[in-house]
Amino acid sequence: MVLGRAMPVRVRFAPSPSGSLHIGGARTALFNWLWARKQGGQFILRVEDTDQERSSLESVRAILDALRWLGLDWDEGPEVGGKFAPYFQSDRKQHYRLAAEQLIDSGKAYRCYCTKEELDAQRAALKARDPKAQFVYPKTCRERRDQPDRPFVVRFKSPDTGATEFSDLVFGPISTPNNQQQDFVILRQSGLPLYNLGAVVDDHEMEITLVARGRDHIGNTPQQVLLYQALGWKLPEFAHLPMMLNKKGEKLSKRDGAVSVGEYRAKGYTPAAVLNYLVRFGWSYGDQEIFSRQQLIELFSWDNVGKSDGKFDEKKFADVAFEHLKRPDLTSDADYVSGALPALSARGLDSADDQVVRTALPLIRERARSFEDAAYHLDFYFRDPPEFDPKVTQKILVPEAAPKLLAFRDWLAQQDLAAPELEAAFKSWVEAQGWSLKDVAQPVRVALTGRGTSPGLFEMMQIMGKELALARLQRGAERASAPGPTS
Ligand code: GLU
Repeated sequence: MVLGRAMPVRVRFAPSPSGSLHIGGARTALFNWLWARKQGGQFILRVEDTDQERSSLESVRAILDALRWLGLDWDEGPEVGGKFAPYFQSDRKQHYRLAAEQLIDSGKAYRCYCTKEELDAQRAALKARDPKAQFVYPKTCRERRDQPDRPFVVRFKSPDTGATEFSDLVFGPISTPNNQQQDFVILRQSGLPLYNLGAVVDDHEMEITLVARGRDHIGNTPQQVLLYQALGWKLPEFAHLPMMLNKKGEKLSKRDGAVSVGEYRAKGYTPAAVLNYLVRFGWSYGDQEIFSRQQLIELFSWDNVGKSDGKFDEKKFADVAFEHLKRPDLTSDADYVSGALPALSARGLDSADDQVVRTALPLIRERARSFEDAAYHLDFYFRDPPEFDPKVTQKILVPEAAPKLLAFRDWLAQQDLAAPELEAAFKSWVEAQGWSLKDVAQPVRVALTGRGTSPGLFEMMQIMGKELALARLQRGAERASAPGPTS
């Protein structure tokens, strides 16, 4: 007996390029990608750019760039190619035309010559009679003869009876009465398809085995199933994913703050943190909140995808991002450094030494909630002189602090910064001077960092090095003895 091999998993993400990559879109791409990677299957990227007025190449670029940044690499698609190329719907016109002709030839679709003006007039007349009525195309052209040389659209002949059924991996069996479907347009006058025909033809030709997308498309699926059946094609599996909503329970929109992947990249979240937060919109694994990319691949399954919509919460997102930055198993030192350097550049610190950043990481990880934040905490190591907080400086770098700073500088010059007992030695020295620890430590902190709070003095000085520390103590003493406007 020959055992058939299971069909390899082929899933796709099919964005319409009418803006940057929305976090909801990224969530959908993620679920497909995880499934492909877990199953050793293929993840296909297809650009649905048939709405030419809304599509732009700039958006395509932004979407590809965001997917790449997230690490959601595609096996077939733009810039990668593949055996079903092209992957832009606007380049696949003949595929849709052939499918539409097949449907016309088999009597399952027809050319419709009704003009926009005629349909608008019918719509207006209906509205005048009954303002609440929903216009349904009256099938005028179903019986009309072909009219060569006149522009037409192609409409699908929806069955008048029966129901269309499919089973959704998340929502279960779904049945829709066919009399709810009007004779919907499948091909425009321009020869470009409407979404449903484009998706069906491409999903079929690209041998997609499972279509996973937002629940907002669940209402399109019966029309797509009708098209598959009319074309005699095998249905893929379907999985519709719950929505990401705002606090009020409405569909997330630009008004709700940062909703594009690019904005989180700019904030300095790591790609893995973004994916970790997004995966929880639909998928869960017990109470676990934090996952590495690899764990997500291992653990992902459709059994753990639920129907409940989730509310987007920027605060929770920030907490996940912080957790990822804290843990070296989630953000390696190398990744941390490469994330922090551009954030330092954005603060005008282009020549930050990556070795210094690396040494400072143990102190930074506990504090920085984003790379942007990390750059703030790293700033004084690289900016010379450091930026002095005016209020703190005025309060702490006062004339009485100057001799303490100078004495500390002289003491420090004699010490080995790497000595383990340095802090204890410092305490005894302060005591021997008859000073309090605070009276010395505070001005030292401000002289070194320009700030009122910082990590431990000796930890910092080890990172900045003795020479820089001594110079800053000297300048701090000068500032303290001649306090002036602190700019
Ligand atoms: N282009 C559609 C969208 O961006 C794709 C829907 C689908 O995955 O079928 O919403």
